[in-house]
Amino acid sequence: MTLRRLSFSLLLFSLILLVFGRCTPPTNIEGLTVSASEYTSSQNGDTLKVIISSNEDWKATTNFSWLRPNMEQGIANGRVKLTIKVLPNLTDKDREGTVDITTESSSVSIKILQQHGDVDAAKYQYNIPVIFHVLYNKEYEDELIAANKPAEGIEYFPLNSSALQEIIEEINKIYEGMPMEPQEWGFFRHPAYGQRPFRNLNVKFSLATKDPSGKTLNPIGIVRHEIEGREIDPTLVMQDKKGGTYHEMAYPVTEYVNVFVFPFASQGGDGYITLGIAHLPYGTTENPIQGLNTLDKRIDKFDNYNHCAVINAKVFEPRMQRRLPLQDRAPINTIAHELGHILGLYHVFSEKRDDSGALTNETDTCEDTDYCSDTPSYNRYRYEDNYKIIIGSGRDALTREQMISLLNRFTCAQQNLLSTNVMDYDWTYGDRFEAQQKERVRQVLYYSFCVPGLKLAEPSATTRSTQDPVPIVSSCSTVLLK
Ligand SMILES: [Zn+2]
Repeated sequence: MTLRRLSFSLLLFSLILLVFGRCTPPTNIEGLTVSASEYTSSQNGDTLKVIISSNEDWKATTNFSWLRPNMEQGIANGRVKLTIKVLPNLTDKDREGTVDITTESSSVSIKILQQHGDVDAAKYQYNIPVIFHVLYNKEYEDELIAANKPAEGIEYFPLNSSALQEIIEEINKIYEGMPMEPQEWGFFRHPAYGQRPFRNLNVKFSLATKDPSGKTLNPIGIVRHEIEGREIDPTLVMQDKKGGTYHEMAYPVTEYVNVFVFPFASQGGDGYITLGIAHLPYGTTENPIQGLNTLDKRIDKFDNYNHCAVINAKVFEPRMQRRLPLQDRAPINTIAHELGHILGLYHVFSEKRDDSGALTNETDTCEDTDYCSDTPSYNRYRYEDNYKIIIGSGRDALTREQMISLLNRFTCAQQNLLSTNVMDYDWTYGDRFEAQQKERVRQVLYYSFCVPGLKLAEPSATTRSTQDPVPIVSSCSTVLLK
């Protein structure tokens, strides 16, 4: 190329720049439009793609829990593909929902129609993501590690994702009605072990793989937070309000079950240890669930408390496990039990509720207080009295007969019953549910807005209450062996 031709090209290029390059990139977007404003989705769910063009910033919102847009907002002067995930329709009715796209000056509704299917809701398997918030004190953890004595089988290690994965797998077997046989986890098989049936609740728990912003968690299912003190009073975590440290750590309750793990500041009195505490869920005005409070709203976090389960980290310490009824099985049974509370189940034994909504087993009655008549009640006082007499001589001296006695409950119907229910504790196989418990859990999954998963009803605008939710707390304390 000659110098003259090069100069000419540069001149031409400059002219083009002068004409087109001075203003913002060319755009022919005017106002707000969507590629289609009505869709029909399959009963089994769908993923819809909508192109949004707008000359202003926009927001996507919906009041329907079965519609999940993949983004909440977009910026001006662009065409963006919005994906709307439509969840399966488990109800027996056709339904219609909208996703609204709004800018400062206009709005467009995208209507989605979905027919009802022949999906059997009872057989639908829920998959509930669980996030473990592990609050640890470095010094305390280092002391536990330093005190390990592998030769004596004392091997503490900080709770991690792979250990939690194993625990969740065992819990899933329990909820699936196929628990690990007692001999496999090193316990004897009582002659009556197989008498009560096992039930599949069609609920699976999984370690959360993403945080609320959609970022992949690595490792999955666990977030560790260093704390200053060696122990925490569990009520500080559970009653923490909006803006508080623990409340801020929690993930949205509509999408995750939050489990906080930390050493509890001592509770429950001498000779007892509280291994877990959990909040119970809510029913709704339209779909009430016996014994549960009512909440008609679907909100990600309750401002007035921190809806969660808390697990005493001491249940993972080998030296403490030696003082617990089922030793190293204790973490599995404790977490499976607390998840039962999260899904709306009460203890099988007789309890009473105090004015604050907290449950206490300090009752000498024989009432059926778990709203499931097929889980025989028993008097907790009498059980604990028997327990203390038997273990008076220490755990090492326990005979097989004594262990059988500890596993038995003397029911309010004056019968001996081998304890196998998840919602019992102390000496129990704790590996199955009764039919009415299953039904109760399903009702909670279908209708409770503070439990993740598909719902069979939407929050009703007319019954929406403005009052703060009132949580019910179930605390689970066990007798320690000497
Ligand atoms: Zn409990």
